[in-house]
Amino acid sequence: MWWTDAQTLSARRDVAAGEELTCDYSTCVADPEFLLRCHCGSYRCRQMVTGDDWRIPQLQAAYAGHWLPPLRDAMSARAKSPPAATRPAPTARGGSQDAPPGGAPERHDPAD
Ligand SMILES: [Zn+2]
Repeated sequence: MWWTDAQTLSARRDVAAGEELTCDYSTCVADPEFLLRCHCGSYRCRQMVTGDDWRIPQLQAAYAGHWLPPLRDAMSARAKSPPAATRPAPTARGGSQDAPPGGAPERHDPAD
């Protein structure tokens, strides 16, 4: 699931009755002290979710436009004046619901 506005989590694809629904906490947490060990079991799991994960370019692309507004604002502010060494690479996959390329961190969805 991902954010479609500040109060709404929506499914990214059709789901079956009784299917477990998951959300990547990185899309809603900006606390640098936040740390969560994930045990979802997905082969794409990055196993650790932090309050700084919103800075990961692959996650920004994977969840493009589906972050809580304060995180979207932080990304926009960062994009306007990025440190040269950490500028996120542009992506042609914005808005895609597919997995990010290259085995990048992915949503915590064990029901792929
Ligand atoms: Zn996980």
